[in-house]
Amino acid sequence: MAKVDKWYTQDIGEDLSECLDCGYKGTDWAENDKYIFDTETGECEVFCPECHSPHYYITIQKKGGKSG
Ligand SMILES: [Zn+2]
Repeated sequence: MAKVDKWYTQDIGEDLSECLDCGYKGTDWAENDKYIFDTETGECEVFCPECHSPHYYITIQKKGGKSG
């Protein structure tokens, strides 16, 4: 085992995000030290905590539940 991917899971319970790959929805997300989004602020790219897909985006919940 030469390589270890270190994933951190965070959850501030605010924005609901959805994974476009596996369909996971949650307020938590995964970060990895290997993927720093902004080296100046230290902001990390966020990933799906289930499948670690980068296609994990905040979804806006609209009131009324109308689907277009
Ligand atoms: Zn996923």
